[in-house]
Amino acid sequence: MLNIVLFGPPGAGKGTQSEKLINSKSLVHISTGDLFRNNIGEGTALGKKAQTFMDEGKLVPDEIVIGMVEDMIEKNVSAKGFIFDGFPRTVAQAEALDGMLAERELTISGMVSLEVPENELISRLLDRGKTSGRVDDQNEAKIATRIEEYQNKTAPVAGYYKSQNKFNGINGVGSIENIYKDISTAIEQFG
Ligand code: AMP
Repeated sequence: MLNIVLFGPPGAGKGTQSEKLINSKSLVHISTGDLFRNNIGEGTALGKKAQTFMDEGKLVPDEIVIGMVEDMIEKNVSAKGFIFDGFPRTVAQAEALDGMLAERELTISGMVSLEVPENELISRLLDRGKTSGRVDDQNEAKIATRIEEYQNKTAPVAGYYKSQNKFNGINGVGSIENIYKDISTAIEQFG
C-alpha cells in the first residue's frame, strides 16, 4: 500500500494536488476538511460538532477527527493506498494515525510537504473565498487564525515525520503541473 500524507498550510494546494494524485495512482482520498463539509451539508451530529470550530478557523478537537478517519480507513481496507489531505494536523493525530495503521499492519510511506510563503497563502485563500463559498476563506481575521493554528499546532507534525525519515519538502509555488511532477518524483522514492 502507498500511504501518503500531503501536508502544508491552508492554501498550499493540497486539495488540487490530491485530485491529480488520486486519479493517477488510484488511491483513496481522505480529506478531513471535505469530510467535515460533507457532514455539515448533510446536517449530521458530527457536522454540528465540527462547524463552530471550522467557522472560527480553529482546529476541530482531535478525538472527533481521529474517529472520523478511522471509520474511513476501516471502510477502505482493501484500497491500493490512501492520501491523507489535511490530516494529521497535530502530533497527537499523527501518533493516532500510526497506531490505527499499525493495527492493520500498515504504515505511512512518506510525507510530502508543500511549502508556500505566508503572503502568497493569504492572497490565494482570499481569492478562493470569492468562489468557494467557504466562510473560513472570506475574511482576513479568519485566515490569520487558521495560519496561527497551523504554526502553533500543525507545523510540529513535520518534525514527527522528519524523525521517522519520511519528510519530503516540495516548493509549492509555480505551475500546478510542475509541482505535481516534483511530488511524483518524491513519491517514486517511497518504494
Ligand atoms: P481544510 O479544508 O483542510 O482547510 O479544513 C477546513 C477546516 O476543517 C479547518 O480549518 C479545521 O477547522 C477543520 N479540520 C480539517 N482537518 C482537520 C484536522 N485534521 N484536525 C482538526 N481540524 C481539522
